[in-house]
Amino acid sequence: MTAPDYRAEAEGLLDQLVAWRRDLHRHPELGYHETRTAALVARVLRDLGCEVRTGVGRTGVVGLLRGGRPGPTVMLRADMDALPIQEESEAPYASQAPGVMHACGHDGHVAMVLGAATLLARHAATLPGRVLLVFQPAEEGDGGAAAMIADGALADPVPDAAFGLHLWNAMPMGRVCAQAGLFMASADVLRIHIHGRGGHGALPHEAVDAIAVTGQVLSALQTIVSRNVDPQEIAVLTIGTVRGGAAFNIIAEQVALEGTIRTFSPAVRETVLTRLRVLLDGITVGMGASYTLAVQTVAPTVVNDPAVSELARAAAVQVVGNTAVAWRPPLMVSEDFAEYQRYVPSCFMLLGSGNAALGLNAPHHNPRFDFDERVLPIGVALLATAAAKFLSGSQEVPVGRLVDW
Ligand SMILES: [Zn+2]
Ligand SMILES: [Zn+2]
Repeated sequence: MTAPDYRAEAEGLLDQLVAWRRDLHRHPELGYHETRTAALVARVLRDLGCEVRTGVGRTGVVGLLRGGRPGPTVMLRADMDALPIQEESEAPYASQAPGVMHACGHDGHVAMVLGAATLLARHAATLPGRVLLVFQPAEEGDGGAAAMIADGALADPVPDAAFGLHLWNAMPMGRVCAQAGLFMASADVLRIHIHGRGGHGALPHEAVDAIAVTGQVLSALQTIVSRNVDPQEIAVLTIGTVRGGAAFNIIAEQVALEGTIRTFSPAVRETVLTRLRVLLDGITVGMGASYTLAVQTVAPTVVNDPAVSELARAAAVQVVGNTAVAWRPPLMVSEDFAEYQRYVPSCFMLLGSGNAALGLNAPHHNPRFDFDERVLPIGVALLATAAAKFLSGSQEVPVGRLVDW
């Protein structure tokens, strides 16, 4: 029996995929508010014959598709949340929700995993094992993956492998990257409060100026990456917001800072945090101020399992041929797919979705973000092929010369 040609079958789903994606794009929902999206997902999965659990991790949905023969369990994951961005688009499918927009492509991710479920359901009778379909809320920094896991998304059945992908406008449409090892950085949110002592702007000697302290802190923080982190390692420390002060003649009592740390190694992350605390201690004590620091982990590093990544790359070569990418430098962005990787050997892939000729290459999180929808069947075929390869125990290795990044 020959294996299904998932690429050809996925192309046949194009109209349905575009319809799902545009419907979701018109009706974007922020993290933990994805009720309309979840209802659509649950309806489609039930129609496909899946067992469906809703309300997992608050607004998440888990579907289970049983193959006709016993075997392992493979998981496919999509994220459902949109971003608090006002869309700038003349497209007929532009967001109808003021100030909310699918600016990261998660609408496409939902459509692609629904498409992969459609194809795998079509071939369920001959599939060994089960497909666990995880649609999570709140990927954009609010812990949706961890919430799903805490609510038992991976408990019954326990998946043996997982695949996920992200559309990526910085790569041309249809290019796939599915490399083993380090793939995306860890991310932490920093919240720093500098406490001084407020006073009259003309009587600085009676006050402790939190803004003056903040100036020293901001300057000193720039030395952490440049002077304390091994130059062969990688780290980012960005302060994104500074808020303080009330009027021209008042010495600010408090300044609040927010920022982020991105690294590829727990040791480097610890170095950055340790130096941050030492500098805050020294500067605030020296200037008569005090501080509080809160560190919130958004996501650990995405590190792809070698064997599962090998399968993903074999699927990529089968689906897109030699435009699969052998390797690209790891990205400083983060993904909470990393939470699943703590428990399940898995591979997170990037799927190129940009098309400069059509003007569909704005960066992710930009108000003009949009992608080439012809990528949708490619993603469907990639996910379905990878899942089917894992379930059937395929040991094929990639062939052909993969292109360099
Ligand atoms: Zn995003
Ligand atoms: Zn995203």
